[in-house]
Amino acid sequence: MFHGAVPQDPTATEASFADLGLSEPVVRSLDSIGFKHPTPIQEQVIPKALAGRDVIGLAQTGSGKTGAFGLPIAEHLIHGKGVRGLILCPTREIALQTQSFLDVVGKDHKLSTVCLIGGVKLGPQIDDLRKHPDIVVATPGRLWDQFQRKNLKLDRIEKLVLDEADHMLDLGFLPQILRVFEAVPDERQTMMFSATMPSTVENLARRFMREPVRVDLRPDMRTAEGIEHRLYLVEPDDTKACLLALAAEEKGSMLVFLRRKVDAEWATKQLEQEGHPVERIHSDRTQSQRVAALQGLRQGEHRILLATDIAARGIDIPVIEHIVNYGMPDSVDDYIHRAGRTARGAMKGTVSTIATWQAKEDIRRIEKALGMPLPRCVAEGVEPYVERKTTIRGRQKIRRRLT
Ligand code: AMP
Repeated sequence: MFHGAVPQDPTATEASFADLGLSEPVVRSLDSIGFKHPTPIQEQVIPKALAGRDVIGLAQTGSGKTGAFGLPIAEHLIHGKGVRGLILCPTREIALQTQSFLDVVGKDHKLSTVCLIGGVKLGPQIDDLRKHPDIVVATPGRLWDQFQRKNLKLDRIEKLVLDEADHMLDLGFLPQILRVFEAVPDERQTMMFSATMPSTVENLARRFMREPVRVDLRPDMRTAEGIEHRLYLVEPDDTKACLLALAAEEKGSMLVFLRRKVDAEWATKQLEQEGHPVERIHSDRTQSQRVAALQGLRQGEHRILLATDIAARGIDIPVIEHIVNYGMPDSVDDYIHRAGRTARGAMKGTVSTIATWQAKEDIRRIEKALGMPLPRCVAEGVEPYVERKTTIRGRQKIRRRLT
């Protein structure tokens, strides 16, 4: 099944896919999954990618970037000359979604795509690799594992894609990604997509690209309408109570970001006890558990999904009414990235952040980026933390009292 076919509305343009230079069979395959018009990122990227240019694409999650790189690849490659397309993704979910998209749009050229993700057995993947795939979609660890075992060659790669590139180039994945860059031919097309791209990361990315065109379609958060921001500033001991209160107050679908797996675990138990339909995804959950959790949210089996940031990257969920940050995100970019999962298209959404005074500096930075103060809110039954203008000495006193 094509996972992405769940109806949702990444705002489309008026252009047609044929106008962008895609062939008739590919356009027909898109029609079969309900893609009538390209999204803005597709409209901008596809002609450039078809012309062979390297691309840095900056757009929110859910904006249609799989099509932006997948369609030119499906158009250029034909079956049977070794693995020529390599798409690296940070999570298994994104990898699976990408594979199912390529299966649909690569039909005319009989393209076969193999998915190499961690958390599942090596054997079946080795069998798949023996069947002469044209494209590999992979998470970096498993790709490297199979490469070192000599189960696949990378010396014919013509198209290299880094999805969620900011994350692929951060410290966790970087060593593996650097090795991949060494293993693939210099003569290739490279495309990187991301919702955030700090300048240090972009400078690094450019070292592996040839005069990339940069397409930046991220909405300016100052003008992003439809998102209501809320800040729940509480004492450190009250963060849990605040999360439970929000879950009880809000009736719509809710995606909660937590930093630690243990928090996802206790919150699941507690929310279940209080009668909420809830699921969680984090790195200790198996592949099938994660897929089931996402599918369950899509189909309304549970209303609340708890996710650690890494497991939640690039989740393709049609409608989230309420995003909750349990703890301030590490950076302004993360805050904006998460907020981008609500209020898509014409929808409205809420982003609530539960934080303590320790996050004051982060709050200030986010307020500066948004160009407005985060409205302070109070959850039922939870005492708000009282902000005061204090001298440094006074602040230290308050801290001592709280710790
Ligand atoms: P992506 O950002 O590629 O993960 O896409 C987000 C969602 O939008 C997926 O559910 C896609 O199936 C859907 N989508 C992408 N492009 C289009 C399009 N041109 N028309 C309709 N839906 C689309």
